[in-house]
Amino acid sequence: MTAILGQEKALSYLAGLVRTQRVPGAFLFYGPDGVGKKMAAVDFAQALNCLHPQEGRACHNCANCQAIEKGTYPDVTVVDFAYQARLEIKKDVSSKSYEEELEKEIAKQQHLSVTTIREVATKSLQKPIGTGGWKVLIVDQAQTMQGAAANALLKFIEEPPAKTVWILITYKRSAMLKTILSRCQPLSFAPLSQEVITQLTQDQVENAALAARYSGGSVTGALAAAQAIGLLSNGALNTPTGPIEVAAGLSHTLVTSRREAKCILDVLSKAIHQKWLQTQDPALALRCRRALQRFENYKRSITRNVSPALVVETALMGLDGMDLTI
Ligand SMILES: [Zn+2]
Repeated sequence: MTAILGQEKALSYLAGLVRTQRVPGAFLFYGPDGVGKKMAAVDFAQALNCLHPQEGRACHNCANCQAIEKGTYPDVTVVDFAYQARLEIKKDVSSKSYEEELEKEIAKQQHLSVTTIREVATKSLQKPIGTGGWKVLIVDQAQTMQGAAANALLKFIEEPPAKTVWILITYKRSAMLKTILSRCQPLSFAPLSQEVITQLTQDQVENAALAARYSGGSVTGALAAAQAIGLLSNGALNTPTGPIEVAAGLSHTLVTSRREAKCILDVLSKAIHQKWLQTQDPALALRCRRALQRFENYKRSITRNVSPALVVETALMGLDGMDLTI
Protein backbone atom coordinates (compact mmCIF):
# COMPACT_ATOMS: atom_id res chain seq x y z
CA MET A 1 0.00 0.00 0.00
CA THR A 2 1.12 3.55 -0.68
CA ALA A 3 2.18 5.31 2.48
CA ILE A 4 -0.09 8.04 3.78
CA LEU A 5 2.17 11.06 3.98
CA GLY A 6 1.65 14.37 5.73
CA GLN A 7 -1.18 13.25 8.04
CA GLU A 8 0.81 12.05 11.02
CA LYS A 9 -1.34 13.93 13.54
CA ALA A 10 -4.56 12.24 12.43
CA LEU A 11 -2.88 8.84 12.09
CA SER A 12 -1.29 8.88 15.52
CA TYR A 13 -4.61 9.91 17.07
CA LEU A 14 -6.26 6.90 15.38
CA ALA A 15 -3.43 4.58 16.46
CA GLY A 16 -4.05 5.70 20.05
CA LEU A 17 -7.69 4.66 19.75
CA VAL A 18 -6.72 1.26 18.37
CA ARG A 19 -4.29 0.70 21.25
CA THR A 20 -6.88 1.51 23.90
CA GLN A 21 -9.78 0.01 21.89
CA ARG A 22 -11.85 3.06 22.89
CA VAL A 23 -13.32 3.82 19.50
CA PRO A 24 -16.29 6.17 18.95
CA GLY A 25 -19.20 4.77 16.92
CA ALA A 26 -19.01 7.42 14.21
CA PHE A 27 -16.33 9.66 12.76
CA LEU A 28 -16.26 12.50 10.31
CA PHE A 29 -12.99 12.70 8.38
CA TYR A 30 -12.91 16.11 6.74
CA GLY A 31 -10.43 18.17 4.76
CA PRO A 32 -9.62 18.98 1.13
CA ASP A 33 -10.01 16.35 -1.59
CA GLY A 34 -6.92 14.32 -2.34
CA VAL A 35 -5.12 14.53 1.02
CA GLY A 36 -5.51 10.90 2.11
CA LYS A 37 -8.81 10.79 4.04
CA LYS A 38 -10.10 7.63 2.38
CA MET A 39 -6.72 5.91 2.63
CA ALA A 40 -6.59 6.79 6.32
CA ALA A 41 -10.09 5.33 6.83
CA VAL A 42 -9.06 2.06 5.17
CA ASP A 43 -5.82 2.06 7.15
CA PHE A 44 -7.79 2.52 10.39
CA ALA A 45 -10.07 -0.40 9.43
CA GLN A 46 -6.93 -2.48 8.88
CA ALA A 47 -5.40 -1.46 12.22
CA LEU A 48 -8.61 -2.43 14.05
CA ASN A 49 -8.79 -5.84 12.37
CA CYS A 50 -5.04 -6.51 12.06
CA LEU A 51 -3.78 -9.85 13.37
CA HIS A 52 -0.39 -8.39 14.30
CA PRO A 53 -0.89 -4.69 15.04
CA GLN A 54 2.15 -2.71 16.14
CA GLU A 55 1.55 0.21 18.50
CA GLY A 56 -2.00 0.55 17.21
CA ARG A 57 -0.94 0.51 13.56
CA ALA A 58 -1.76 -2.05 10.88
CA CYS A 59 0.97 -4.50 9.80
CA HIS A 60 -0.30 -4.43 6.17
CA ASN A 61 0.91 -8.02 5.77
CA CYS A 62 -1.51 -10.30 7.60
CA ALA A 63 -4.46 -11.96 5.89
CA ASN A 64 -6.94 -9.43 7.30
CA CYS A 65 -4.89 -6.38 6.27
CA GLN A 66 -4.49 -7.78 2.77
CA ALA A 67 -8.17 -8.67 2.39
CA ILE A 68 -9.17 -5.16 3.47
CA GLU A 69 -6.71 -3.69 0.98
CA LYS A 70 -8.28 -5.79 -1.79
CA GLY A 71 -11.82 -4.99 -0.69
CA THR A 72 -12.67 -8.63 0.04
CA TYR A 73 -12.81 -8.55 3.84
CA PRO A 74 -16.44 -9.17 4.84
CA ASP A 75 -16.70 -6.62 7.67
CA VAL A 76 -15.21 -3.57 5.97
CA THR A 77 -17.34 -1.75 3.39
CA VAL A 78 -16.36 1.32 1.41
CA VAL A 79 -19.45 3.10 0.16
CA ASP A 80 -18.81 5.52 -2.70
CA PHE A 81 -20.19 6.23 -6.17
CA ALA A 82 -18.50 3.12 -7.54
CA TYR A 83 -20.17 0.97 -4.86
CA GLN A 84 -23.55 2.54 -5.59
CA ALA A 85 -23.10 2.16 -9.36
CA ARG A 86 -22.38 -1.56 -8.90
CA LEU A 87 -25.57 -1.93 -6.86
CA GLU A 88 -27.54 -0.13 -9.54
CA ILE A 89 -26.42 -1.93 -12.66
CA LYS A 90 -26.76 -5.42 -11.17
CA LYS A 91 -25.63 -7.03 -14.39
CA ASP A 92 -23.66 -10.05 -15.28
CA VAL A 93 -20.19 -9.00 -14.14
CA SER A 94 -18.57 -11.35 -16.61
CA SER A 95 -20.18 -9.62 -19.57
CA LYS A 96 -17.78 -7.83 -21.87
CA SER A 97 -19.40 -4.44 -21.60
CA TYR A 98 -19.71 -4.50 -17.78
CA GLU A 99 -16.62 -2.38 -17.06
CA GLU A 100 -17.66 0.16 -19.66
CA GLU A 101 -21.20 0.40 -18.32
CA LEU A 102 -19.88 0.70 -14.79
CA GLU A 103 -17.65 3.63 -15.80
CA LYS A 104 -20.61 5.41 -17.36
CA GLU A 105 -22.82 4.72 -14.36
CA ILE A 106 -20.14 6.03 -11.94
CA ALA A 107 -19.82 9.25 -13.95
CA LYS A 108 -23.58 9.78 -13.66
CA GLN A 109 -23.68 9.48 -9.86
CA GLN A 110 -24.25 12.67 -7.89
CA HIS A 111 -25.82 11.63 -4.61
CA LEU A 112 -25.60 8.66 -2.29
CA SER A 113 -29.17 7.39 -2.29
CA VAL A 114 -31.39 6.28 0.54
CA THR A 115 -31.43 2.77 -0.96
CA THR A 116 -27.63 2.59 -0.77
CA ILE A 117 -27.56 3.89 2.80
CA ARG A 118 -30.21 1.37 3.88
CA GLU A 119 -28.27 -1.45 2.25
CA VAL A 120 -25.12 -0.52 4.18
CA ALA A 121 -27.03 0.14 7.37
CA THR A 122 -28.40 -3.40 7.24
CA LYS A 123 -24.83 -4.67 6.97
CA SER A 124 -23.86 -2.59 9.99
CA LEU A 125 -26.32 -4.51 12.14
CA GLN A 126 -25.01 -7.96 11.23
CA LYS A 127 -22.45 -9.49 13.57
CA PRO A 128 -18.83 -9.30 12.36
CA ILE A 129 -17.78 -12.58 10.76
CA GLY A 130 -14.08 -11.90 10.14
CA THR A 131 -11.38 -12.82 12.65
CA GLY A 132 -10.53 -9.17 13.31
CA GLY A 133 -13.82 -8.59 15.07
CA TRP A 134 -14.47 -4.99 13.97
CA LYS A 135 -17.07 -3.85 11.51
CA VAL A 136 -16.13 -0.67 9.63
CA LEU A 137 -18.43 1.22 7.27
CA ILE A 138 -16.74 3.97 5.30
CA VAL A 139 -19.00 6.46 3.51
CA ASP A 140 -17.12 8.62 1.01
CA GLN A 141 -18.61 11.85 -0.41
CA ALA A 142 -20.89 11.93 2.63
CA GLN A 143 -21.98 15.48 1.79
CA THR A 144 -23.90 14.12 -1.20
CA MET A 145 -26.49 12.40 1.01
CA GLN A 146 -29.68 14.39 0.76
CA GLY A 147 -32.64 14.51 3.17
CA ALA A 148 -33.93 10.93 3.09
CA ALA A 149 -30.50 9.31 2.84
CA ALA A 150 -29.02 11.45 5.60
CA ASN A 151 -32.00 10.81 7.86
CA ALA A 152 -31.80 7.08 7.19
CA LEU A 153 -28.16 7.13 8.27
CA LEU A 154 -28.82 9.17 11.36
CA LYS A 155 -30.35 6.46 13.51
CA PHE A 156 -27.63 3.97 12.65
CA ILE A 157 -24.72 6.22 13.57
CA GLU A 158 -26.40 7.27 16.79
CA GLU A 159 -25.90 4.00 18.59
CA PRO A 160 -24.07 1.46 16.46
CA PRO A 161 -23.65 -2.07 17.85
CA ALA A 162 -20.44 -2.80 19.80
CA LYS A 163 -17.25 -2.95 17.70
CA THR A 164 -18.93 -1.15 14.80
CA VAL A 165 -17.53 2.11 13.39
CA TRP A 166 -18.94 4.43 10.77
CA ILE A 167 -16.48 6.75 9.05
CA LEU A 168 -18.07 9.54 7.03
CA ILE A 169 -15.71 11.34 4.67
CA THR A 170 -16.23 14.78 3.20
CA TYR A 171 -14.36 17.70 1.69
CA LYS A 172 -17.30 19.95 2.54
CA ARG A 173 -18.33 19.77 6.16
CA SER A 174 -20.60 22.81 5.76
CA ALA A 175 -22.86 20.86 3.37
CA MET A 176 -23.68 18.18 5.94
CA LEU A 177 -26.74 18.00 8.19
CA LYS A 178 -26.06 19.45 11.64
CA THR A 179 -27.75 16.45 13.25
CA ILE A 180 -25.22 14.15 11.54
CA LEU A 181 -22.26 16.37 12.44
CA SER A 182 -23.26 16.39 16.08
CA ARG A 183 -23.15 12.59 16.23
CA CYS A 184 -19.72 12.20 14.67
CA GLN A 185 -16.28 12.58 16.18
CA PRO A 186 -14.61 15.08 13.81
CA LEU A 187 -11.08 14.46 12.59
CA SER A 188 -9.45 17.05 10.40
CA PHE A 189 -7.06 16.29 7.53
CA ALA A 190 -4.79 19.17 6.63
CA PRO A 191 -3.73 20.26 3.13
CA LEU A 192 -0.41 18.62 2.21
CA SER A 193 2.90 20.44 1.89
CA GLN A 194 4.41 20.96 -1.58
CA GLU A 195 7.24 18.54 -0.71
CA VAL A 196 4.82 15.75 0.19
CA ILE A 197 2.74 16.36 -2.92
CA THR A 198 5.82 16.28 -5.13
CA GLN A 199 6.87 13.01 -3.53
CA LEU A 200 3.43 11.48 -4.02
CA THR A 201 3.00 12.51 -7.66
CA GLN A 202 6.49 12.34 -9.13
CA ASP A 203 5.96 8.87 -10.57
CA GLN A 204 2.77 9.94 -12.30
CA VAL A 205 3.56 13.34 -13.79
CA GLU A 206 6.52 15.02 -15.44
CA ASN A 207 6.40 18.41 -13.75
CA ALA A 208 5.56 17.26 -10.20
CA ALA A 209 7.39 20.01 -8.29
CA LEU A 210 5.89 22.76 -10.44
CA ALA A 211 2.40 21.24 -10.29
CA ALA A 212 2.68 20.99 -6.48
CA ARG A 213 2.95 24.79 -6.34
CA TYR A 214 -0.47 25.04 -7.99
CA SER A 215 -2.07 22.11 -6.18
CA GLY A 216 -3.84 23.86 -3.30
CA GLY A 217 -2.36 21.22 -1.00
CA SER A 218 -4.02 18.19 -2.55
CA VAL A 219 -2.87 15.33 -4.76
CA THR A 220 -5.96 15.63 -6.95
CA GLY A 221 -5.22 19.34 -7.33
CA ALA A 222 -1.63 18.56 -8.30
CA LEU A 223 -2.66 16.04 -10.97
CA ALA A 224 -5.12 18.53 -12.44
CA ALA A 225 -2.51 21.30 -12.34
CA ALA A 226 0.06 19.06 -14.03
CA GLN A 227 -2.34 18.46 -16.89
CA ALA A 228 -3.10 22.17 -17.21
CA ILE A 229 0.60 23.03 -17.17
CA GLY A 230 1.13 20.46 -19.91
CA LEU A 231 -1.58 22.11 -22.03
CA LEU A 232 -0.08 25.54 -21.36
CA SER A 233 3.43 24.62 -22.47
CA ASN A 234 4.88 25.45 -25.89
CA GLY A 235 4.83 29.20 -25.58
CA ALA A 236 1.13 29.56 -24.74
CA LEU A 237 1.85 32.66 -22.71
CA ASN A 238 4.29 34.47 -24.93
CA THR A 239 3.60 33.74 -28.57
CA PRO A 240 0.80 35.31 -30.62
CA THR A 241 -0.59 31.92 -31.69
CA GLY A 242 -0.29 30.40 -28.18
CA PRO A 243 -3.91 31.03 -27.09
CA ILE A 244 -5.33 29.43 -30.23
CA GLU A 245 -3.05 26.43 -29.91
CA VAL A 246 -3.96 25.84 -26.27
CA ALA A 247 -7.67 26.12 -27.08
CA ALA A 248 -7.24 23.66 -29.95
CA GLY A 249 -5.45 21.26 -27.61
CA LEU A 250 -8.50 20.83 -25.33
CA SER A 251 -10.47 17.61 -25.46
CA HIS A 252 -13.37 17.35 -27.91
CA THR A 253 -15.64 15.98 -25.20
CA LEU A 254 -17.54 18.76 -23.42
CA VAL A 255 -17.24 17.34 -19.89
CA THR A 256 -13.49 16.80 -20.24
CA SER A 257 -12.79 20.10 -21.96
CA ARG A 258 -14.70 21.94 -19.23
CA ARG A 259 -12.56 20.27 -16.61
CA GLU A 260 -9.37 21.04 -18.53
CA ALA A 261 -10.41 24.66 -19.04
CA LYS A 262 -11.17 25.07 -15.36
CA CYS A 263 -7.72 23.67 -14.43
CA ILE A 264 -6.02 26.04 -16.87
CA LEU A 265 -7.93 29.02 -15.45
CA ASP A 266 -7.07 27.94 -11.89
CA VAL A 267 -3.35 27.66 -12.68
CA LEU A 268 -3.35 31.01 -14.48
CA SER A 269 -5.27 32.70 -11.64
CA LYS A 270 -2.65 31.52 -9.17
CA ALA A 271 0.14 32.74 -11.45
CA ILE A 272 -1.49 36.16 -11.82
CA HIS A 273 -2.04 36.35 -8.08
CA GLN A 274 1.63 35.58 -7.52
CA LYS A 275 2.65 38.31 -9.98
CA TRP A 276 0.31 40.76 -8.24
CA LEU A 277 1.93 40.05 -4.87
CA GLN A 278 5.44 40.43 -6.26
CA THR A 279 5.23 43.46 -8.52
CA GLN A 280 6.33 46.94 -7.44
CA ASP A 281 4.77 48.52 -10.53
CA PRO A 282 1.33 50.02 -9.69
CA ALA A 283 0.14 49.84 -13.31
CA LEU A 284 0.95 46.13 -13.51
CA ALA A 285 -0.65 45.53 -10.11
CA LEU A 286 -3.84 47.09 -11.40
CA ARG A 287 -3.74 44.94 -14.54
CA CYS A 288 -3.32 41.87 -12.38
CA ARG A 289 -6.27 42.77 -10.19
CA ARG A 290 -8.49 43.35 -13.19
CA ALA A 291 -7.33 40.09 -14.76
CA LEU A 292 -8.20 38.20 -11.57
CA GLN A 293 -11.73 39.61 -11.63
CA ARG A 294 -12.10 38.65 -15.29
CA PHE A 295 -10.88 35.14 -14.52
CA GLU A 296 -13.59 34.68 -11.89
CA ASN A 297 -16.14 35.43 -14.63
CA TYR A 298 -14.41 33.07 -17.06
CA LYS A 299 -14.56 30.26 -14.48
CA ARG A 300 -18.27 30.84 -14.00
CA SER A 301 -18.93 30.99 -17.73
CA ILE A 302 -17.43 27.55 -18.46
CA THR A 303 -20.04 25.93 -16.26
CA ARG A 304 -22.69 27.54 -18.49
CA ASN A 305 -23.36 27.13 -22.14
CA VAL A 306 -20.12 28.69 -23.39
CA SER A 307 -17.44 26.84 -25.33
CA PRO A 308 -14.55 26.08 -22.93
CA ALA A 309 -12.09 26.50 -25.82
CA LEU A 310 -13.39 29.99 -26.55
CA VAL A 311 -13.14 30.97 -22.88
CA VAL A 312 -9.55 29.70 -22.62
CA GLU A 313 -8.54 31.48 -25.81
CA THR A 314 -10.07 34.79 -24.66
CA ALA A 315 -8.55 34.44 -21.19
CA LEU A 316 -5.07 33.84 -22.60
CA MET A 317 -5.30 36.70 -25.10
CA GLY A 318 -6.10 39.08 -22.25
CA LEU A 319 -2.76 38.26 -20.64
CA ASP A 320 -0.73 39.52 -23.57
CA GLY A 321 2.22 41.66 -22.44
CA MET A 322 1.90 40.75 -18.76
CA ASP A 323 5.06 38.64 -18.96
CA LEU A 324 3.43 35.90 -16.92
CA THR A 325 5.39 32.76 -16.07
CA ILE A 326 4.19 29.49 -14.60
ZN1 LIG B 1 -2.23 -6.80 9.68
